[in-house]
Amino acid sequence: MIPILSHYSPSKEYQETAAIYGREPYVPAMLSAAEQPSRKSPITATESVPFNYSSSDELASLFEAFRCMINDAIRIGVDAGPRSRFALIGLAYNRLKEYGLHTHYILSACEVAFSALRNKRRKSVPYVKRAFLKLDRQSYRLNHLLLRIPTTPKNYVFLALQGSEYHSSFIEDCTLKRGSVTINERTVAIAFTKVIEGFAPSGYIGVDVNERNVTVSATDGWGHRFTELREVAEIKERYRTIRASISKATRRDRRIGKRLLSKYGRRESDRSKQRVHNITKQIVDYAKDHGLGIKMEKLTGIRRLYRRGNGRGPSLRGRMNTWVFGETQRQVAYKAAWLGVPVYCVNPRGTSGNCPDCGSRVAPLAQRKLYCPKCDWTWDRDDLASKNVMACAVPQARPST
Ligand SMILES: [Zn+2]
Repeated sequence: MIPILSHYSPSKEYQETAAIYGREPYVPAMLSAAEQPSRKSPITATESVPFNYSSSDELASLFEAFRCMINDAIRIGVDAGPRSRFALIGLAYNRLKEYGLHTHYILSACEVAFSALRNKRRKSVPYVKRAFLKLDRQSYRLNHLLLRIPTTPKNYVFLALQGSEYHSSFIEDCTLKRGSVTINERTVAIAFTKVIEGFAPSGYIGVDVNERNVTVSATDGWGHRFTELREVAEIKERYRTIRASISKATRRDRRIGKRLLSKYGRRESDRSKQRVHNITKQIVDYAKDHGLGIKMEKLTGIRRLYRRGNGRGPSLRGRMNTWVFGETQRQVAYKAAWLGVPVYCVNPRGTSGNCPDCGSRVAPLAQRKLYCPKCDWTWDRDDLASKNVMACAVPQARPST
């Protein structure tokens, strides 16, 4: 049976881990067919909306205090092994109270600490290095773009958020519920949730992601190749050269080197992500407008790693593919969840080896072409893959063999 993924929204645990460690790889949770929620039932969708703002010294000391509180709570938790977040709060309360911050900080530090302790993939005692703050929805006030957060009891700090129309659309929409707020040196991220009615798709869009492009084919005949990924590869390449020259030029002063590297790293990731955003938005909007579900290959990256013949060394190809893969899938999943568009992960097996029309084995030709001897037809490799993904494997449609 092929695992499918329906209405994926990142688990709370994942979001928290990602908030702490920053660059956890995205691994979607697979649901078996039996666990799959009925497609028409209402779903809770969450979107975390990032706002720019200018940080201050006061916030920097809050970040530092919060970081220490989490690490304290983790140490207490490692010794005592609490079974729940509330048990951890009970154990750590007095120690964390010494920081003199508002009680909300204690609750929230324990929540973050508990989820770090519970993370099954952890190998050692977790330690939080990143500067950030997380507060639950009862603790802050948001008035248009003015955010008020507590510091010590009865004292507050106000943050002026910068927002575009996109941001205002979330703030002014009173049907949305506000969730927790996460603040770091660069952004304030506010979670908004809503309950949305899912729909039974009338067809599907198959999405094939590879290093050069994202190719989509839909059951209603729509097909498109997004070539912006080539720019992402170029961006990554360019920044690799920049990073190499920074390390070389600053090898006598690691602090400056570190600062420059993080600045350029951020720029690189912003620019690359923007390209992927353009693509994923168009795909999800099309699916919503036409009542289609989205099918993507299950993220493993392994098949992609060993795909030869794109003229690059294996290490670059591997990193590039897994990054693009994960980022595209992450964006499609959360954008689709927000609009109630069902998303399925299909088994990637055979999606670039068989003819979508007759199912027989295809023979590779030069220039990413594939030839089906039975149909006497030459396919483009990416078209073929996206058509196969489209036709693949929602279990009730075609039992897997
Ligand atoms: Zn054929």
